[in-house]
Amino acid sequence: MTARDSRMAGLRPDNRGTMRANLGFLAPDLGLDRLGHAAQMKVLRTRFAGVGWETDRILDGFEAAPEEFYMERTDKVVLPTYSRGRVIVVGDAAWAGGPTGMGTTLALVGAYVLAGELDAARDGKTIDNRRAFAAYERIIRPYAETVQTPPLGNSRTVMPRTTWGLRVLRTVHRVIAKPAVRARVEHRLLSRAGKDFVLPSYPIYADAPVTAGRDVG
Ligand SMILES: Cc1cc2nc3c(=O)[nH]c(=O)nc-3n(C[C@H](O)[C@H](O)[C@H](O)COP(=O)(O)OP(=O)(O)OC[C@H]3O[C@@H](n4cnc5c(N)ncnc54)[C@H](O)[C@@H]3O)c2cc1C
Repeated sequence: MTARDSRMAGLRPDNRGTMRANLGFLAPDLGLDRLGHAAQMKVLRTRFAGVGWETDRILDGFEAAPEEFYMERTDKVVLPTYSRGRVIVVGDAAWAGGPTGMGTTLALVGAYVLAGELDAARDGKTIDNRRAFAAYERIIRPYAETVQTPPLGNSRTVMPRTTWGLRVLRTVHRVIAKPAVRARVEHRLLSRAGKDFVLPSYPIYADAPVTAGRDVG
């Protein structure tokens, strides 16, 4: 559910039989993640006052179970290079995309490619990690950068500030939710990034139950 002033609330069932709730809003870095629970709740209560839908219930739940609650910024990580010397990063540490919905896929693919390239650069007991890191960067960077580019533009597009922007967003949602339209645009909206990326095959995985050389995403 999206509300005016760039606020959104969401509910989704998890794989443990419980429901996960989240509230989000666009704001400059105010350091809210460093406040105590009571102060964070005060900020959220003020920010989501009068939004309606299930937000009051969600806030009551957050208040009642502080041990199940956390608050943090959604950040995008952009590094000029994924490695320095013998240190290399993978997953969110390398290319966290913000709310693009591909972070887990990319973390797994990154780890798979890194291990494959390290093995390919092995000569007996030594590994030429410079060669492996360069190959990893060459393969993964274009994929990661595509994932980091949301298909629908910036955060403001999906969390509008004005009532007018909200109307446009809801109209777009209504249109793309129609089965005929959804079938045509779903892949483009959710995972454009997977379209051109082909998972390389590596000898190290020859005996593993992994189907390599296929499109992912
Ligand atoms: C609310 C939410 C919803 C999401 N929904 C989706 C989704 O639907 N689909 C999707 O693909 N992605 C989703 N993501 C993104 C996804 O969770 C991440 O992209 C993914 O988990 C990144 O994997 P990672 O292994 O790089 O990092 P993480 O999963 O964050 O793992 C890093 C681990 O390192 C540990 N750690 C940190 N510091 C240290 C330290 N100093 N020493 C030892 N251990 C340490 C942490 O405790 C953690 O266990 C979502 C993220 C959030 C927050």
